[in-house]
Amino acid sequence: MNERRTILVRYDEIGLKGKNRDQFINRLVKNIQMQMKDLEGLKFKVPHGRIFIHCSKKSTEECIRRLQKIPGIASASVGVTREPEFDALAAVGVEWIEPLMQPGKAFKFCVRTNRADKSYPHKSPEIDRQVGSRILGQLHSKGLEVSIKEADFILEIEIGQDETVVFNNRTPGLRGLPVGSSGDILGLISGGIDSPVALYRMMKRGCRAHGIFFDNRPFMGRGGYDKVVKLSKLLNGYQGKSKLYVVPFEDIQVAIRDHCRPAHRVVLYRRMMYRIAQAVAQQKGCLALATGESVGQVASQTIENLNAVSDVVTLSVFRPLIGMNKQEIINEAKELESYDISIEPHPDCCSAFMPPRPSTRAKIVDLEIDETKYPWEVLMLEAMAKMETVDLDTLTV
Ligand code: ATP
Ligand code: MG
Repeated sequence: MNERRTILVRYDEIGLKGKNRDQFINRLVKNIQMQMKDLEGLKFKVPHGRIFIHCSKKSTEECIRRLQKIPGIASASVGVTREPEFDALAAVGVEWIEPLMQPGKAFKFCVRTNRADKSYPHKSPEIDRQVGSRILGQLHSKGLEVSIKEADFILEIEIGQDETVVFNNRTPGLRGLPVGSSGDILGLISGGIDSPVALYRMMKRGCRAHGIFFDNRPFMGRGGYDKVVKLSKLLNGYQGKSKLYVVPFEDIQVAIRDHCRPAHRVVLYRRMMYRIAQAVAQQKGCLALATGESVGQVASQTIENLNAVSDVVTLSVFRPLIGMNKQEIINEAKELESYDISIEPHPDCCSAFMPPRPSTRAKIVDLEIDETKYPWEVLMLEAMAKMETVDLDTLTV
C-alpha cells in the first residue's frame, strides 16, 4: 500500500489580494518550509496557487500540528493523491469506509467534490454520483447508505489540473495573513496577559512582531524578564526570525519617582517607554508600535492618558485589544497558550514606583512641565546604549 500522503493547504485572505496574490502565496510557502525544515522527506508543490505537501504517513500528524500555528492558513486536509478516475477514487472511499462500519448497523456517507480544474470533463455533481454509486455498489450489502444531510462520513475529492486529492478531514488554521507580508512592527511586551495577545493579533495580520521589554531588574528581580523571554519565544514559534529588545528602565523610573508629581508617574513612565520604543523601531526597521492597551482597563488606559502617551511619538501605535474586555483577552491568551505563562506570579510594578492615586486625566502641558525636572534625553540614550538583543530563533528556554 502506498504510504505517502498529500496535505492540501488552503490559504485564507490571500484570495482577496488580486495582483499581489502570488507574492502572498510565495511568502506563505516560505513560512511553511521554514517551520518544517527539520522534517525529512517532505515535498512541496505549488501548482496554480494551490499548496500541496507530500509526506510520509507517519509525519502527517506533526505537519498538521505545525500548520495549525502558521498565520495565513484557513485549513488543511490530509489525503491521498489519485488519478482523477472514478474507480480509483471510489477505491479510496471503500478502503476508508469499510473499517468504520459495524455488522448489522446502517452507515451513511456522501461524496463532495470540488472541481478546481474546470477543464475536467465531468461536473462536480456528476463526479459525486459516479464515485458514490461505485462505493455503494461494493458496500451496500453491508449496510452502507447515502445521506447528504446526515452523513457519518464525507468523502471529499478535489480535482486539480496537476493533482487530484481525496480526503475526509479538515483541520482549521489560524487564518489571517502570512507573517512577513505586512512588514515588521515593534510590540511593547510585559509579562502580563494582554501584550502577548496584542502581538499575536498583529502577527496574524502579516506582521513580524518583535518585542521590546522595559526591565527593572534591580528592583523587581529577574522574574519579569524570564517571563517575557518565555512569552517571546512562544510568539516566535508562530513567526520565526523575531527579536526581543530588553531595555534597562530602573534609572528612568527612579528619576521620575524622585523628581515628578506622583500622580503623573505612570503616564510619564509610559511616555518614556514609547519614546524609546520609537527610537528602537526606527533603528531596526520596524514600521509601527503595538501595545496591549484597552480603553479603561486601568488608570493609565483612559482615553486622555492614551492620548498623552501617543503624543510623544510620530509612528503609528497599534492597539489591537483596544475594544476588548478582559475575558475576551483571556480567552485568546488561552488559545495562544500564553495564559499559563502570563499568570505565573512575579512582582509586576514595585509599590515604591506606583503612586497612591494615579492621574486618570493627565494633561500634556503638565506632563511636559514634569519632564523639565529630569534629564530624560540623557537617560533615554543611556538606556538604549545598554539595550540587550535576544535572538529568539537561537535561544533555548
Ligand atoms: P499586560 O497584561 O500586557 O502586562 P496590563 O494589563 O498589565 O498589560 P499595563 O501594565 O498598563 O497593562 O500595560 C499596558 C501595555 O503597556 C502592555 O500591554 C504593554 O504593551 C505595555 N507595557 C507595560 N509595561 C511594559 C514593560 N515593562 N515593558 C514593555 N511594555 C510594557
Ligand atoms: Mg502589565
